[in-house]
Amino acid sequence: MSATEQRSVPAHIDSRFKGGMAATATIDVRGLRRRLESTVTGEVRFDTQSKALYATDASNYRQVPIGVVIPKTLEDVVAVHQACHEFGAPLVNRGAGTSLSGETVNFAVVIDHSKYLTEIGDADAQTRTVVCQPGAINEKVNEKTGRQVNMIFGPDPSTHSRCAIGGNIGNNSCGIHSVQAQLYGPGPRTSDNVEAMEIVTHDGARFWVGCNEESQLEEIIAQGGRKGEIYAQLRDLRDRYAELIRERYQPVDRLPRRVSGYNLDELLPERGFNVARALVGTESTCATTLQVKLKLTPALLMRTLVIVEYDELPDAADHVVEIIEQFKPIGLEALDHRLIENETLLGKHVEDLQELPRRDHPHSSWLMVQFGADEAAESEKTAERFRHWLIDEKGYAPERVSILRSQQEGGNSSELWQIREGGLGATAFPPDGRDHWPGWEDSAVPPERLGPYLRELMALYEKYGYHGAFYGHFGQGCIHSRIDFDLRTAQGIATYRAFLEEAADLCVSYGGSLSGEHGDGQQRAELLSKQYGEELLGAMREFKLIWDPDWKMNPGKVIDPYRLDENLKLGTDYNPWRPPVRFNYAKDKGDFAHAALRCVGIGKCRVPDASTVMCPSYMATHEEKDSTRGRARLLFEMLEGEVITDGWQSREVHDALDLCLSCKGCTNDCPVQVDMPTYKAEFLHHHYKSVRRWRPRHAYAFGLIDQAARIASLAPGLVNFVTQTPGLSRVAKLAAGMAPERQIPAFAPITLQQWFKQRGGTTNPNGRKVVLWPDTFNNHFHTDVGVACVEAIEAAGWQVVMPEGHVCCGRPLYDYGFLNLAERYLRNTIAVLRDEIRQGTPVVGMEPSCLAVFKDELTGMLPHDDDAARLARNAMHFAEFFERYEIPVPSLPRKAIVWGHCHHKATGGIGPEHQLLRRMGVDVEPIDGGCCGLAGSWGFEQGHYNISMQCGEQSLLPAVRKTDPDTLVIANGFSCKTQIQQSDTGREALHVAQAIKLAREQSQHDHQALR
Ligand SMILES: Cc1cc2nc3c(=O)[nH]c(=O)nc-3n(C[C@H](O)[C@H](O)[C@H](O)COP(=O)(O)OP(=O)(O)OC[C@H]3O[C@@H](n4cnc5c(N)ncnc54)[C@H](O)[C@@H]3O)c2cc1C
Ligand code: SF4
Ligand code: SF4
Repeated sequence: MSATEQRSVPAHIDSRFKGGMAATATIDVRGLRRRLESTVTGEVRFDTQSKALYATDASNYRQVPIGVVIPKTLEDVVAVHQACHEFGAPLVNRGAGTSLSGETVNFAVVIDHSKYLTEIGDADAQTRTVVCQPGAINEKVNEKTGRQVNMIFGPDPSTHSRCAIGGNIGNNSCGIHSVQAQLYGPGPRTSDNVEAMEIVTHDGARFWVGCNEESQLEEIIAQGGRKGEIYAQLRDLRDRYAELIRERYQPVDRLPRRVSGYNLDELLPERGFNVARALVGTESTCATTLQVKLKLTPALLMRTLVIVEYDELPDAADHVVEIIEQFKPIGLEALDHRLIENETLLGKHVEDLQELPRRDHPHSSWLMVQFGADEAAESEKTAERFRHWLIDEKGYAPERVSILRSQQEGGNSSELWQIREGGLGATAFPPDGRDHWPGWEDSAVPPERLGPYLRELMALYEKYGYHGAFYGHFGQGCIHSRIDFDLRTAQGIATYRAFLEEAADLCVSYGGSLSGEHGDGQQRAELLSKQYGEELLGAMREFKLIWDPDWKMNPGKVIDPYRLDENLKLGTDYNPWRPPVRFNYAKDKGDFAHAALRCVGIGKCRVPDASTVMCPSYMATHEEKDSTRGRARLLFEMLEGEVITDGWQSREVHDALDLCLSCKGCTNDCPVQVDMPTYKAEFLHHHYKSVRRWRPRHAYAFGLIDQAARIASLAPGLVNFVTQTPGLSRVAKLAAGMAPERQIPAFAPITLQQWFKQRGGTTNPNGRKVVLWPDTFNNHFHTDVGVACVEAIEAAGWQVVMPEGHVCCGRPLYDYGFLNLAERYLRNTIAVLRDEIRQGTPVVGMEPSCLAVFKDELTGMLPHDDDAARLARNAMHFAEFFERYEIPVPSLPRKAIVWGHCHHKATGGIGPEHQLLRRMGVDVEPIDGGCCGLAGSWGFEQGHYNISMQCGEQSLLPAVRKTDPDTLVIANGFSCKTQIQQSDTGREALHVAQAIKLAREQSQHDHQALR
């Protein structure tokens, strides 16, 4: 048997060894794979790409799995257990993989429940329950139950838009509305909100476990079978340890976030022998959840947010108990000044931050107190009562308290909540240049002791010279913080260990829990004895052995764990390949390896129907490899060189980048600004050089579209004859590597440059100068848009300067990695524009994706060219120019739906488009959502048509279809307009400049009619 057909994995043998596995086991990987392939209807993936994709989660740890299974049915999940049992292979389950403690990675077979096992049953109003599969997304459950019975599943982690119920169960998750679940529902944690579960054990036994089974215990045991056997052992365990459990377990009403360790207290007779709840929080170390019956909490969807400012964060912490007791909010969160400073310096949520009540205190901190009710007036009334209480009874200055009425309509979607929810991601790479990591990011203490604990924790940071923003679920005593641990040097790692041990002692001295929601995994497991003592840890070990006597369920996590400084993603041997690169990676100090490390795994790019741009390919396929995270992880692994060993030649990376639309969604929407289009361009540049192969045909046809268009402009009629005549066009598409379903856009009879020259240049030779960039698309295809732009600018008295001859920003070249040529194009552009750039003349782009090159790629390619920096500063999108110079616009009292090109959204946003149109009197209805699906030429390429249309159907096309014929459709991007035109919407979209033209024509028409 070859090495790849066998795999040695660490295996637990002797629990006397503290920390780490004591022996190894050899797995017949080929036999296991074959067995899985013959018994599972889902996908069995033991390939290099899958192993690389699943080697990390959002934690500090990395372990390469044996293989991955994506089950299609619950029977598949059982079959995976049976096969793994037969072959002695360990198992770990995965939802969205957003865990921070290393509980989702292991040297094991990974079962990814998130793709297919997403069913959510109907909510039952009478029993206040809903049954769902483990891959169901937390938010989707709430949307459905909220709609059906006006109730929700209370614990909503900040990752609620993508984390899975199976993951919530694994971690015993909590969330912002755990306060709501505690005060208005069954209790704060997932375990408190579980009624029953169907589970499967490693040896393939499948059965339901419930709650309140104390009275039926004897009967269940008498029925025998694996379930009876397990119940008997659990009863025996419970009886032996009952007194100790009563003594050492903090009750949840005192310590609402007791998440560390196993919930052995749930087995106590006075609690009813709740086996289902005892299994919640076991992080895949005991059994796998197949289905769960969740308990629901009243939704209270009419919500009002009050924000209160404090001088210092511990002052805010001191206040929470009084607020909870007196006002019963549904959410009570905190933010500190560091988080807000970081967001401000990173330019994130800038407008929304203005909503925070502020004074000039250097350590200002805030409580976000959310009230909920079924009626808007009721939650507003409570908020007002709270505000009066703060001001009148507690003496707070009125300017320290804000009520955000605008956030009335339920949910947590307002931007301010996103600042809080995005905290763990946004604080990973703060502007101070130090990388911050999880490790002590969710400790919890009884809320009444939060202030003193926080003060001591801050002092501990100071003692160790650590930094980190603080925020969190203060209403339940849980503090979040990423810390600038040095996880690369032996000394740094020793300090990290020393700190964690001391922090654990501190937390326990306050009666706290090492983890308040993220679980123990490998990060805190080694410290568990501090919280529970060795004897109870022994009881937990016995509990695990009852379920998993062979020690094959997520071994080395929670109980008898790997050490907290083992299997680190970084570690003392971190020294990735650092090949020469073409972009400058300024955010990463020029280090491509750091760029590839940037993804912190929080999975915002895995939201299945995001209202932001990121990540359209994941939304279409629901495949990890098609998410920004998947791609980033593969690049990381490529530089690591352990799993992916062929560097730039890697087919695995190439394959994952193929469906990346280079839409730039991630550059804007990812909390740590993973810039996949740049990494893709970089990779493709080196890939084709390295494999010494020609690129596919479409790369030349589309990448060099400017050259093709230049030649076509000599005889556009003839070219159109070929491309628009059915038989001939088929041949042309084949030659160009274009999807047969697509139509080749027709060339305009005259280019914009020709038109401009023929009319004698600008009509305002004495006006203030503005360069209008004749991009390939509006120059050669949509000349009418270019004409409208010229006329709109000239109508305001400006002198339009249009570069002559062949110019191109090189936009399409990046998508295919033609970076040498792209650089030549940029240098030519700068040479052509140099005089204007140096005079400070605005450079306006009609086509958002081309202008985006000047704002983004340009300085990445030419970081040390001052003229490039000047051009980047002077470059403006069309409406941005109008708004910046307050250029008057004609009136157009019409309704319009407005779609922003994804590159436009990533390079300044389409706020100016909305403002301009509103100034015209247009009733603007923005269309939320991702990318049109064409993304330049991506959707034209052979093999991309279906995904391209799926992306279009995510939001743009349905919005256009349902718009009434009198409503204008506005979209500036060539590809967005083409996508609308080439689908069945029956509509043509207008550029903003065409809307201005329409307004002018309308007003001339009205004027003539009056005469
Ligand atoms: C930025 C950020 C913010 C976060 N905020 C919160 C928060 O507010 N509250 C909170 O609780 N957590 C939070 N987390 C942690 C994490 O997102 C949650 O705990 C979430 O519930 C995990 O869900 P998942 O689908 O990603 O699970 P995964 O990470 O995939 O899995 C979590 C655990 O569950 C196990 N598991 C998965 N499926 C099953 C199954 N079918 N049967 C048995 N075990 C299973 C896994 O093996 C693993 O041990 C945050 C993480 C990040 C990165
Ligand atoms: S790419 Fe960004 S959004 Fe996606 S998981 Fe990584 S950090 Fe999160
Ligand atoms: S560029 Fe677009 S498609 Fe590519 S990873 Fe980023 S968000 Fe996803």
